This record gives sequence, C-alpha cells and structure tokens, in this order.
Amino acid sequence: MLNIILFGPPGAGKGTQASLLITKYNLVHISTGDIFRANIKGATELGTLAKSFIDAGQLVPDEVTIKMLESEVKKNPNAEGFIFDGFPRTVAQSEALDAMLTKMGESITVLLSLNVDRDELIKRLLGRGESSGRSDDKDENIIKKRIDVYTNETTPVMNYYSKQNKHVAINGIGEVEEITSRLSNAIDNCKTPL
Ligand code: AMP
Repeated sequence: MLNIILFGPPGAGKGTQASLLITKYNLVHISTGDIFRANIKGATELGTLAKSFIDAGQLVPDEVTIKMLESEVKKNPNAEGFIFDGFPRTVAQSEALDAMLTKMGESITVLLSLNVDRDELIKRLLGRGESSGRSDDKDENIIKKRIDVYTNETTPVMNYYSKQNKHVAINGIGEVEEITSRLSNAIDNCKTPL
C-alpha cells in the first residue's frame, strides 16, 4: 500500500493536491476537515461537537478525531492506499495512526510537507474565504490562530516522522501543476526501491 500523509499549514494546498494525486495513484483521500464539515452540515452529534472547536480555530480533541479516522479507514478495506490530509495534527494522532496501520500490517510510506510562508497562507485563506463559505476562512484572527496552532501543536508531527526517515519537504509555492509534479516525483522516489 501507498500511505501518504499530505502535511502542511492551513492554506498550503493539501486539499487541492490530494484530489489530483488520488486519481494519479488510485488512492483513497481522507480529509478530517472535510468529514467534520460534512457532519456539521448534516447536523450530527459529531458535527455539533466539532463546530465549536473549528469556529475557534482550535483542534478537535484527539479522542474524537482518532475514532473518526479509524472508522473512515475501515470503510475502505480494498483501498490500494490512502492520502491522509489534515491528519495527523498531533503526536498522539500520529502514534494512533501508526498503531492502527501496524495492526493492518501496513505503515506510512512518506510524509510530504508543503512549505508556504505565513503571509502567502493568510492571503490564500482570505481569498478562499470569499468563495468557499468556510466561516473559519473569513476572519483573519481565526486564520492566524489556526496557523499558530499548526506551529505549536502540529509541527511536532513532522519531527515524529523525520525520526523514521519519512519526512520529505516540498516547495508549496508555484503553479498547481508544478507542485503536483514535485509531489509526484517524491512519491515515485519512495516507490522505487533503493
Ligand atoms: P482543515 O479543513 O484541515 O483546515 O480543518 C479545519 C478544522 O477542522 C481545523 O481547524 C480543526 O478545527 C479541525 N480538524 C481537522 N482535522 C483535524 C485533526 N486531525 N485534529 C483536530 N482537529 C482537526
């Protein structure tokens, strides 16, 4: 299986790139943010719980997020691999993901982190907020809070996978196709045995 973590701050282009890569590599895309938003729209119990955290720019608690992710993976028993987008966001989530994959006889292939500077992220997210209907993209203070949460709580995930020699940094600035090709090269390098 090819199990990819598409990593990076909010606005780095994870969702855009994941939707292109799943077709190319025949993978299942799991975006925890998308699942939370679908639950909010459907007014489920999970959606109600997640909404207060999302609106404040904070992380939904690990316990809730991990349970949801595990059930999503189990819905796809025939998958050739997964792209995890927006997950893991904490070291506890990374440990839970690794434990789950180990039980399945699988592991993470690579963590690809998209590098984009803070000013560009804020510009992109405010732009997205005008068309996406996402309330957390409309308020500059919430956007800044999300970037801070990423820096403080989520970047340790990168170190966690660096220790396993699985971290590859990708320049996330440029045309969409250009970035897809950088990501694809990194994925192809992982697929080719050294
Ligand atoms: P995203 O669409 O990935 O930007 O996620 C939107 C919001 O959903 C985040 O700001 C968090 O509040 C919540 N969220 C998404 N994924 C996670 C996760 N793995 N852990 C905790 N909260 C998450």
